[in-house]
Amino acid sequence: MPSAADLITSLTATVPDFPKPGILFRDLTPVFANGEALRVVTDALVEPFRGEVDAVAGVEARGFVLAAAAAYALGVGMLIIRKPGKLPRPHLSQSYDLEYGSATLELQPDDLPPASRVLVLDDLLATGGTLSAAIDLVQRANWTVAGVSVVLELEGLGGRAVLAGHTVRSLVTL
Ligand code: AMP
Repeated sequence: MPSAADLITSLTATVPDFPKPGILFRDLTPVFANGEALRVVTDALVEPFRGEVDAVAGVEARGFVLAAAAAYALGVGMLIIRKPGKLPRPHLSQSYDLEYGSATLELQPDDLPPASRVLVLDDLLATGGTLSAAIDLVQRANWTVAGVSVVLELEGLGGRAVLAGHTVRSLVTL
């Protein structure tokens, strides 16, 4: 059976100059679209956390795919960390800097009891701004970050250093 790393490496599509010139976009949708790859990648993401987490949080939008599959595999619930303006009940907001401008993520803290252990998932770690904001939200909700996992890590953009103090796992580093 091919490994998660083999499947990610062979199926990920690399798109130059998307969404703007100079960005080499790593498109994981072919991994999600392949049944074997989705299962093997999900199993690899959750394996270290079996029995260790109460919920899996996914960052909109590709993180939702992974977090839903991971939560099902672990038999726990899923939390959605959303872009602004989507959550109907009281929520926390966390803004963070992008290369140009800023972005915001939001989360509803009433969805899970305090002190719950949360695994935070996203598709890709680049500068770490997105996952850093997601971690801040989880902590501000009075939950514990049990771990941070991604499918792809772009080494050299400093994301791992930005997330220092947390256990960060990536299945493939480029
Ligand atoms: P960052 O906040 O810089 O770590 O960026 C991570 C977020 O932006 C993730 O949610 C990714 O989906 C997306 N992202 C950043 N850079 C890329 C890239 N080169 N290819 C695909 N997605 C990216």
